[in-house]
Amino acid sequence: FRTQQDSSNRNDEALLDGLLTSPGADEPSCLSRHQSYRKHSPHKPSPYLISKLRKYEDLHRRCGPGTKSYKREIRKLTKLDRVDRDHSSEEYCKYVIWLPANGLGNRMISIASTFLFALLTDRVLLLHQRPDMEDLFCEPFPNSSWVLPVDKFPLQKEFWDEKDRHSHSIGSLMEKGNSSAARNESTRAQASSYLFVNVNHGRYDGDNVFYCDRGQASIEKIPWLIMLSDQYYAPAFFVMKRFEKEVTKMFPEKDTVFHHLGRYLFHPSNQAWGLIKRFYRAYLEKADQRIGLQIRVFNPKTVPFQTVMDQILECSSKENNILPKLDDAKPVATSESGNRTSSKAILAVSLYSEYYEHIKNMYWTKPTVEGDVIGVYQPSHEEYQKFGDNMHNMKAWAEISLLSTCDVLVTSAWSTFGYVAQGLGGLKPWILHKVNDQNVPNPACVEDLSMEPCFHFPPTCDCDTDEKVDAGALVPYLRHCKDLNWGVKLV
Ligand code: GDP
Repeated sequence: FRTQQDSSNRNDEALLDGLLTSPGADEPSCLSRHQSYRKHSPHKPSPYLISKLRKYEDLHRRCGPGTKSYKREIRKLTKLDRVDRDHSSEEYCKYVIWLPANGLGNRMISIASTFLFALLTDRVLLLHQRPDMEDLFCEPFPNSSWVLPVDKFPLQKEFWDEKDRHSHSIGSLMEKGNSSAARNESTRAQASSYLFVNVNHGRYDGDNVFYCDRGQASIEKIPWLIMLSDQYYAPAFFVMKRFEKEVTKMFPEKDTVFHHLGRYLFHPSNQAWGLIKRFYRAYLEKADQRIGLQIRVFNPKTVPFQTVMDQILECSSKENNILPKLDDAKPVATSESGNRTSSKAILAVSLYSEYYEHIKNMYWTKPTVEGDVIGVYQPSHEEYQKFGDNMHNMKAWAEISLLSTCDVLVTSAWSTFGYVAQGLGGLKPWILHKVNDQNVPNPACVEDLSMEPCFHFPPTCDCDTDEKVDAGALVPYLRHCKDLNWGVKLV
C-alpha cells in the first residue's frame, strides 16, 4: 500500500512516472489516484507521451463540457447540415463521442483506443456513459469532465437509430464521394457537423474505411464524430501512414499502449475503490504471492465444469507451476518444521462459484509439497452477465482491478475482461485456450506474447487495392493473437 510520500521516488511512483500530474485538491474525490496496490511499473512512459497528455488536458479544459467553445459547437450542431464553418476567428474544437457496446472489458479497451484516436487527431473525448457505467471511474482530466451531458445533447436519439447511423456514417460519406453524380451530395455531407463510425465487432462494411488514410482525410474537419466500437483498435494506428510516426514516438515500446493509457485513464471511483480496498486488505495484502485466475466460460451450457477445471489444473500445476503442487503422500497434519512457509493467495474470478469451491477444497483437504499456506478467495459470483446493472459493473471493475494486483495471471481466451486486468497490471498472462467440447485442449494454455489486448476484428482489406490482407503479416510488431488467430496484437 502506498500513498503520496515526500521522497521523489515515491512521488514518481504515485504519479505513475509522469502520466499523472501533481495530486492537487482532488484527493478526497478520487482516492485511487493516490493509492494503489499494483506494483510499480518497470515500463516508463515516453517524455513525448507525457507532453501529449499535458497538451490534451489543456485542450479538454478549453473545449470540454460547460466551456464557451463547447456551447458554441453544440449550437452549430443544432443547425445540422448546413453550417458555415468559418473557424478563422475563433477557437475550433472537435470531438469524438464514444458509445457503449458490450461488457465492461470491451468498453474499456475501446475507450482507450478512442482516447488514442483523440490524442492523434486533437479531438476531445466524451463518453456517453449510460446509467450502468455511472461512477465507476474518476474523472481522468483535471478540472473538466469526460462525460457527455447527454440530456442536453441534440443528437441523443440518433445514437441508437440504425438508419441515421447509416446515412450519417463514414462509409456512406465515402460511397457518395466515389459517385460523381452524387458529388454535390458529397460536398453537403462533407459540410455535415457529425458523422458516425461504426466499427463494432465483426463489421466489415464501409465504415472500415476509418482504418484507411483516405477515410481519415475525409473526416478530419468534421467537428463531431460518434464512435461505436467494442474493439481494441489502437493497433490499427501503427500501420496507417498518417499516424504511424506519431504513435511510435508516443510509444517507443509498442506493447505498452494499453498499459500506459489504461493506467492514465481508469482510476476506480471512491465507491469502486472501497470494494477493491476492503477485499485486498482482508484477503490479498499479507500474502507473499498473489495468483490470479480469471475463468470466463462463454458457453457454460455446452462446456462441462469438469473439463474447464481439468484444464485449469493442467495449465497451472502440471505444466507451469503456477498453482502450488499438492502432496498426495503426506499425512494431512504435519508437525511444524520451524522453517517459515510462504503464503499464497489465489484470487479466483468468475461468474460461477464452482471453480473457486473446487480449488479451495483441494487446498483444504491436502497439504502442498512445499508446505505453503494457501488461501483461496472469490469476490463475487454473479452467475450471468447482466446488462444495465450498475452494481454488477462495479463488481466487475473491482475484480478486474484486483486481478491487476496479482503477481501471476491465468486468463481465459477471447476475454476482454482478462485483457484489461493484464494490461493494467503489466502482466503477460497464461491464457487458457477456448474449450469447445468435452475435451481439454492440448496444450491446456499458452503464455501470451505481450500484455496488450488483442484486436479481435482488424481490417481485412488493403486500403488501396481492396484486396484481402492478413493484418498479422504486415509488420513484425503486429502478430496474430495466441488466443484468437484472426486477431492481432502489438508485441
Ligand atoms: P468478455 O465478454 O469476457 O470479453 O468481457 P466483458 O467485460 O466485455 O463482458 C463480460 C461481462 O460479464 C463483464 O463486464 C461483467 O459484467 C460480466 N462478467 C464476466 N466475467 C465476470 C467475472 O468474473 N466477475 C464479474 N463480477 N463479472 C463478470
